Amino acid sequence: MKLFTVGPVEMYEHTLRERGKQLPYFRTEQFSTVMMEIEERLKRIMKTSSKSKCAIITGSGSAAMESVVSNSLDKNDNVLIINGGSFGRRFVELCEIYSIPFDELIVPFDEQLSEKHFESHKEINYTAMLVNLHETSTGQLYNIELLSKFCKQHGMKLIVDAISTFLSDEYDMDGNGIDCTIVSSQKALALAPGLSMIVMNQTFYKEKVEGKPPINLYLNIQSHVENLKRGQTPNTPAVGICYELLDMLRKIEKNGVETKVQNTAIMANHFRLLVSHTSIKIPEFTLSNTLTPLYFENGGARKIYDYLKNNYDIYVTPSGGDLSDKLLRIGHMGNVQIEYYDELIKYLKEAL
Ligand SMILES: *Cc1c(COP(=O)(O)O)cnc(C)c1O
Repeated sequence: MKLFTVGPVEMYEHTLRERGKQLPYFRTEQFSTVMMEIEERLKRIMKTSSKSKCAIITGSGSAAMESVVSNSLDKNDNVLIINGGSFGRRFVELCEIYSIPFDELIVPFDEQLSEKHFESHKEINYTAMLVNLHETSTGQLYNIELLSKFCKQHGMKLIVDAISTFLSDEYDMDGNGIDCTIVSSQKALALAPGLSMIVMNQTFYKEKVEGKPPINLYLNIQSHVENLKRGQTPNTPAVGICYELLDMLRKIEKNGVETKVQNTAIMANHFRLLVSHTSIKIPEFTLSNTLTPLYFENGGARKIYDYLKNNYDIYVTPSGGDLSDKLLRIGHMGNVQIEYYDELIKYLKEAL
């Protein structure tokens, strides 16, 4: 089986070894040191101050999205949501459920988010922006400088779902004025799904989270942050994934974060070059190294997906909604090798 998916992805040998170990009890000093080391390394890798606050939540990325929206925003906010696909839509649904006032900036599939899209939003008083920096459902990577500049000019908090760009592309939380970052375990970290992390700068935490009455229990950010001060979580965490995470963060820092990003870029660029010699189209907007979207104007994406799965046990990522028969996404995360792509392109051509 080969996974060119966008999470879970092919795990590394060292992660599989971690997964095979007996789990310890977690209300211990030993486990607290694990959690505190995770927090420290995560902040460093994200390029944020050691004073930033962190919540480690047992739940997939959507749990962290829900936690951030419900705990940091309320009816006194007015949020601008960048909605370029199904993950943007998830922020919309969350704001609807929690009765948070918002506007949507819709990015159509064939357009690159640019300054002109903000024209009609310039005169409106917003308090925050919610954005999936890499909209995984289409493959578009937004320009962080553009978003950051708009937020700064309008005094808005910048909340970034970086789940599918973190560790695939460069990420500089403080340098880009990002107030809150959401990441999760099963994307470029290449771990089991089920753990998500929220990192907030001090000001954001003070102004938007701290002191507010709890809106929920399991997803309460304050109780996670308070508990993490002593290396603990309010409820039983996914203990095994915490160990996988620590192991992975150590490896990444040992080899250099840049190396991790570069290796993913090598996979992506190699595959894109191979595709450029075929009739398959790649959309023109800016791409993340995470995945390559393949666009089939006249449909057929589903059949190709089935063909690869049924004949070669290869899993590429299918799409949903309007794009379901037009878009396939080829992942470059996790334990993939350059030769996999030479093989994949051969089978793709065959399928065509
Ligand atoms: C994967 C992903 C999520 C989280 O989805 P889950 O299914 O809850 O893990 C959120 N945002 C983006 C951009 C993603 O790629």
